[in-house]
Amino acid sequence: MRKSVVAIVGRPNVGKSTIFNRLVGERISIVEDTPGVTRDRIYSEAEWLNQKFNLIDTGGIEIGDEPLLIQMRQQAEIAIDEADVIIFIVNGKEGITAADEEVAKMLFKSNKPIVLGVNKMDNPEMRATVYEYYSLGFGEPYPISGAHGLGLGDLLDEVVSHFPKTEEDEKEEDTIYFSLIGRPNVGKSSLVNAILNENRVIVSDIEGTTRDAIDTHLQRDGQNYVITDTAGMRKRGKVYESTEKYSVLRALKAIDRSDVVLVLIDAETGIREQDKKIAGYAHEAGRAIVIVVNKWDTIESNEKAMKEFEIKIRAHFQFLDYAPIVFLSAKTKKRLHTLMPMIQLVSENHSKRIPTNVLNDVIMDALAMNPTPTVKGRRLKVLYATQVAVKPPSFVIFVNDPELMHFSYKRFLENKIRDAFGFEGTPIKIFARRRG
Ligand code: GDP
Ligand code: GDP
Repeated sequence: MRKSVVAIVGRPNVGKSTIFNRLVGERISIVEDTPGVTRDRIYSEAEWLNQKFNLIDTGGIEIGDEPLLIQMRQQAEIAIDEADVIIFIVNGKEGITAADEEVAKMLFKSNKPIVLGVNKMDNPEMRATVYEYYSLGFGEPYPISGAHGLGLGDLLDEVVSHFPKTEEDEKEEDTIYFSLIGRPNVGKSSLVNAILNENRVIVSDIEGTTRDAIDTHLQRDGQNYVITDTAGMRKRGKVYESTEKYSVLRALKAIDRSDVVLVLIDAETGIREQDKKIAGYAHEAGRAIVIVVNKWDTIESNEKAMKEFEIKIRAHFQFLDYAPIVFLSAKTKKRLHTLMPMIQLVSENHSKRIPTNVLNDVIMDALAMNPTPTVKGRRLKVLYATQVAVKPPSFVIFVNDPELMHFSYKRFLENKIRDAFGFEGTPIKIFARRRG
């Protein structure tokens, strides 16, 4: 089910990022521990009344050195394009400014549900002044204090009441949902078009209540596929599209709805820092991954060139050592036929279940080959293992004391599981749990 998206807009310094951080809370990200990959605090999951949604702080999207008004206009435009519900924040200490009115005008025309938050209402006396904000035309203004966490519950009640009904948006079984992510200009739109031309498109452009997530259904060799989030690829020519933060936001949104993610790399320009960052999110989300080196027509193609490029990718994307690499050209369609079978393979691995007895045979063999370590005179004892989840495959290993299971031994067991069962293209998770 697609999560609703909520965007926060407003002038600088009204408290957008303070409110964002409060609603998102502290989340520990494994990507932050991956060198060269940092978390952009502009898009994150949040939850209210058991409803999970994604929250965007449009203030975090810097759009060059444009004057304030133009920046705000573009931020509002992103909110209108991306979000199901918009939280418009004004500063209750300053009253309504000309810039607020400008943004209000744009939001008003969008027909999106707008919830007005009047921030910095830190004490009850100030709340009496909230009525003047009715004049913005968005109905009841909600007095809040991001700094003190006041009034946010009422505001969120209103926000979630506007979420689109998602029943018709359920995922279909036996269908592989995949998306394409990558820097601007790596060839995402070109590759989507190439895929659509090569395969039987069943339904395209179904615009449901959630019109900004356009899914395209297609079929190949009896397998159904859905390319998710092709909407982002159709909005061509907007100024903000080329900004890094926006491309990250787009990637996160695409990852959210897919099982398999194609991480596109541009063969012509080579690997960039931003590629790593974007790939890191797909890895962290536990999706199956195929690395796609596009524009292969620009390279004099032979086995040697492919090997060399692969070595570079492996060096830069160490955390994706499980992901297969496909070299192709969206433009000439060269090697395009290798892509869909690879998507199918990694998808199968992503939802593969290993019977407990077979798994334990492998674990026992591994233990015999490389005895468990001893920490401060105590030896790790592995009792048995079982698979507890798919997408991605997750295993619990019952041990005498989880503290004794060091990273390196866990890694060793992961490699043995991979060797035995071939989980190409999918991350796997291993948890150690105490069993007396
Ligand atoms: P943004 O530019 O809209 O993201 O605003 P920030 O979240 O960075 O906040 C701007 C300033 O307002 C910071 O100094 C915050 O500490 C302050 N601020 C944010 N929320 C509140 C609030 O509820 N009350 C008060 N008094 N100050 C706040
Ligand atoms: P997006 O921003 O990631 O959606 O990238 P586009 O699909 O718009 O492609 C960006 C540019 O790269 C366009 O000029 C395309 O014609 C070009 N391009 C895309 N795929 C290929 C390819 O396989 N080979 C070559 N030579 N150019 C490509």
